[in-house]
Amino acid sequence: MCIGIFKKENFEIVNNPKEAEIIIINTCGFIESAKEEAINCMLEMAEYKSAGNCKYLIAMGCLVQRYKNELEKSIPEVDLFVSIDEYDNLWEKISNLVNVKSESKNTLDYLNRIISTGNTTAYLKIAEGCSNRCTYCAIPYIRGPFVSRKMEDVLSEAEQLANKGIKELIVIAQDTTKYGIDIYGKPCLAELLDKLCKIEGFKWIRFLYAYPESITDELIEVVKQNDKICNYFDIPLQHFSDKVLKRMNRKSDSKSIEKTIEKIRLEIPDVILRTTLIVGFPGETEEDFFELYEFVNRAKFEKLGVFKYSKEDGTPAAKMKEQVHYKTKQSRLNKIMALEQQISKIKLEEKIGNVYEAIVDGFSDDNKFICARSYMDIPNEDGTIFIKNNRRVKSGDFIKCKITAVKNYDMLGEIIEE
Ligand code: SF4
Repeated sequence: MCIGIFKKENFEIVNNPKEAEIIIINTCGFIESAKEEAINCMLEMAEYKSAGNCKYLIAMGCLVQRYKNELEKSIPEVDLFVSIDEYDNLWEKISNLVNVKSESKNTLDYLNRIISTGNTTAYLKIAEGCSNRCTYCAIPYIRGPFVSRKMEDVLSEAEQLANKGIKELIVIAQDTTKYGIDIYGKPCLAELLDKLCKIEGFKWIRFLYAYPESITDELIEVVKQNDKICNYFDIPLQHFSDKVLKRMNRKSDSKSIEKTIEKIRLEIPDVILRTTLIVGFPGETEEDFFELYEFVNRAKFEKLGVFKYSKEDGTPAAKMKEQVHYKTKQSRLNKIMALEQQISKIKLEEKIGNVYEAIVDGFSDDNKFICARSYMDIPNEDGTIFIKNNRRVKSGDFIKCKITAVKNYDMLGEIIEE
């Protein structure tokens, strides 16, 4: 949305930082690895002040919200830090810095956004913040409580995206399944998805981050009944041991988690399930970890990510006494990932010989392969289908492809004639 302001003010938008006179870094401050990545990015971009055209470096987003004072002291190369609380005055701050006279009162506006994810795929944010208060997570402190956007606003942004030619719409929020509870008094994700399906132009609609306790029968039914909605549930579970779930202040327990997964698999047999887990949460014993490991072995998630617990300033878990040694965390992570690798291999090999509709995301660096993705994979997280580049296709095209082999978390395929 920030790029949208610059566009409105007649700035030219470039993707190559070497060419840019103003570089804007949107930071994430959620966990240790994200913080490191954001800081490295700031330092890397600072080099363009001497090696490129960069005159002004601006950083905004969650990390700035959390650590503005510290960042101002430690990274003086950045000319302006804008925290989330200051977004209402964003343009005023930027125009002062870059010496542009502008009377306009530009603010971040969903309807004035520039799509930075290409011409085919776009994210649609339906809520800000989170009220779940998991004890390890800083997001509620950074982003504030969960606030849904009005359904009519979300739908009009979606229509605008469809008119721009977007084919794959990815509905996001910290917890999409809570959508509507704060403003309509009931969960409305199923209704929203149903309405989004009626907008002409979208071929695929996905929603990310469905919390297990809020996956309703109605939601499963809407996914099942609408061909446009990808049969894909991303359900961040974090753990399976009831003791750990409770300490994490998660709302679901092991029984309800298992029941929800069973129900989804029963209703939508070709569903792809993704989850995210945390190992080494304070107080996680060998027994707790074993329960988690056994569950992963039973549930057989097609996609899975694991994080080592990281102590986040200001969160209740950071003060818990029984912190787990980093070596134990690493070894638990390795064990889960080794197991998931086997599960994923078996699941992917089952797909060999099947034909899927896939979207062309681009081409390999050497241009020898088309990089495509079926309903089974979300962009930037999951695998790729590599197809020999012997046909004329372009990014954003939908193709039919037959899976011929599996390579780690990716697949090889060939295009099938219509
Ligand atoms: S649901 Fe929990 S982990 Fe997710 S953003 Fe909210 S507090 Fe953080």
